[in-house]
Amino acid sequence: MKAAVMLDINQPLRVCDMPLPVIADDEVLVETRTSGICGTDLHILAGAAYVPKLPHILGHEPAGVVVRVGRAVRNLTPGTRVVPYLFFNCHDCYYCRVGRHQQCLHLGGILGVMCHGGFAEYFKAPAGNLFRLPDNVPFDIGGLIADAVVTAVHAARRAGLYAGQSAIVLGAGGVGLSLIQVLVNAGVRVVAIDRVQAKLGLARHFGATWTYPFAVEQVDAAIHDLADSDGVAAVFDCVGSTPSLAAACRWVRNGGRVVVIGESGQPPAITSTEIAQRELEIIGSRNGARQDFVEAIRLVQCGAVRPPIAARFPLEDINAALGLVRSDPLGRVVVVVRDD
Ligand SMILES: [Zn+2]
Ligand SMILES: [Zn+2]
Repeated sequence: MKAAVMLDINQPLRVCDMPLPVIADDEVLVETRTSGICGTDLHILAGAAYVPKLPHILGHEPAGVVVRVGRAVRNLTPGTRVVPYLFFNCHDCYYCRVGRHQQCLHLGGILGVMCHGGFAEYFKAPAGNLFRLPDNVPFDIGGLIADAVVTAVHAARRAGLYAGQSAIVLGAGGVGLSLIQVLVNAGVRVVAIDRVQAKLGLARHFGATWTYPFAVEQVDAAIHDLADSDGVAAVFDCVGSTPSLAAACRWVRNGGRVVVIGESGQPPAITSTEIAQRELEIIGSRNGARQDFVEAIRLVQCGAVRPPIAARFPLEDINAALGLVRSDPLGRVVVVVRDD
């Protein structure tokens, strides 16, 4: 099969022939239609995250059609449109039993991250990881449920906001623009902040009430104005850098929640004194659990969340697509593996 292969860190992907995945009795072979590109792909390519066994096939936002099922598979048949839940969890450890599947102690892999993903004509997954993609959801949007949308749904759940409360979404990229829609649907008033003016336009389109460039004094003044009695109950940091986390902690109200979604490897610049005295809650959020996945599919199916797509590239042009991802596109960049 044709695949875009990572042969080494900091090198362009090479589009070449790779062996067709061999499926076990409980696995399913999927013919890829599309696969989104995420910032994490750039981190993996740079050797800054995960470091899979090479050669590796990236792509953790794929969608496609079932073409072959293992002998023990009962719930899927060839022809079914599917999107994968990325974590091949064990179903038996403490975290799996309490529904926190992405914290599984015995992960069998993460699709596209620790095992081969969607930048190829086919990928395989355990049958239990494949969810039906509703007929009214196109593949390119549907694949984004696997990361951008489920991450937004889970982060919103972690914050536990109520209708009428205000929240800041810091970073209006693939996850941030989905998160704005999830929050607005839940009745939360959203302040969107990004360095790129055009992304703020999209944020407004998706229901953000206020938008600001990432300029500390300007946002300070704005938050002072809108913090009538209860201030900003939660700040979602989709960037995860030292300056973004510092700003998130500055803008959240006392006793509020900072939900950390973006990952950069940079340390937070906040003192224990400030965390303790202001009673801040700093909460990590990673992708989502299976219940978040089901909710993410439903939100996309009913049209409440529509992750924007900035551009589509054929698999052959994967390196140009990655180049666009590096330059702050308006929404997700999607690789079209097969167009029909
Ligand atoms: Zn991702
Ligand atoms: Zn487990």
